[in-house]
Amino acid sequence: MVTPPGKRDPAAQEREYAHQRALMVDRHVAARGVKDPRVLDAMREVPRHLFVPSVIAAKAYGRGALPIGSKQTISQPYIVARMIELLDLSGNEKVLEIGTGTGYQAVVLSKLSAKVFSIERLNELALRAAELIRELKIYNVTVKVFDGTYGWSDHAPFDRIIVAAAAPEVPEPLVQQLARTGKMVIPIGSEKSQRLARVIRVGTGIQIEDCGTAEFVPLVGRFGWKE
Ligand code: SAH
Repeated sequence: MVTPPGKRDPAAQEREYAHQRALMVDRHVAARGVKDPRVLDAMREVPRHLFVPSVIAAKAYGRGALPIGSKQTISQPYIVARMIELLDLSGNEKVLEIGTGTGYQAVVLSKLSAKVFSIERLNELALRAAELIRELKIYNVTVKVFDGTYGWSDHAPFDRIIVAAAAPEVPEPLVQQLARTGKMVIPIGSEKSQRLARVIRVGTGIQIEDCGTAEFVPLVGRFGWKE
């Protein structure tokens, strides 16, 4: 007998999603060059379908970015994995994330670090993300609504900073809040042309490593693009 859609056994549904997640990681993440086994495992674990709007849950494990409302997008799985791999997390770090969006990347980060502080400028996205993070019983992620280009000075310095929106240049407050031996991953550039940058502090300045092309929504704020 065919089970009608929506009436499927929840455990079977969960197994099906886990299977799709494993395929997503193989085809769209590992096959494109992400190697860190901890990153791959975390992405096999986090239920990405719960983070996207329910009408497009079926597309959650595809290769693309998806709309999440408020003109924003959840990045494609490969980009999330690549940026997190570039952070070189060992599990003990305090991480600052700018651009909570759905909270998906924050939850992947929560599996790979000690504590995640995540800032989102849009209230409705932050609220939804915080609620889902609570439902998933993730206790090492804190979300706040603010302009993330200011960073989060109360909790600085951060061992790692990850920015999920593209800035015209590296926002100075984020450099100030990066630990001396820390690393920051941030897309730099305009809506049309962006590069993924890995930033480290060297003396009083910074050193930027180019990590390829990127395609992000704009980082809008005092030290980002103007509204
Ligand atoms: N990491 C998210 C996707 C982020 S999309 C996820 O996993 O779903 C980029 C997000 O950055 C958007 O939600 C956008 O509202 C937010 N954003 C843009 N400028 C910002 C700023 N100055 N401070 C905080 N969030 C910002």
